[in-house]
Amino acid sequence: MDGVDIQWVHIDSDGNPDPTASVLAAAQMVAGYGIVFRPALTARHTQGLAIDMSISWQGNLAIRNAAGDPVVITSSPRYGSNSDLWSAAVTYGVIKLATDPPHWSSEGH
Ligand SMILES: [Zn+2]
Repeated sequence: MDGVDIQWVHIDSDGNPDPTASVLAAAQMVAGYGIVFRPALTARHTQGLAIDMSISWQGNLAIRNAAGDPVVITSSPRYGSNSDLWSAAVTYGVIKLATDPPHWSSEGH
């Protein structure tokens, strides 16, 4: 894709395309970025309706829901997979996609 500086085809020592090295490098990139779903050019992310973020805290998490009411999360785990955090997020119209650890969106997809 124009403007995306990724060398998808790796070349062997003779200057020929090396499919094995190419696939290995792609697999390493998937692992390195923690990709769990195939990247898409049109997605909630490109529409500005999703974000990938890592959240963690220690002790209790004191926040407010969208109504301004205090919410204290005492449960575990103390990261983005916490269902009480998901409940607070819903009040803001932000829904967690459980199968994609860092992914939050307007519709849960
Ligand atoms: Zn995402």
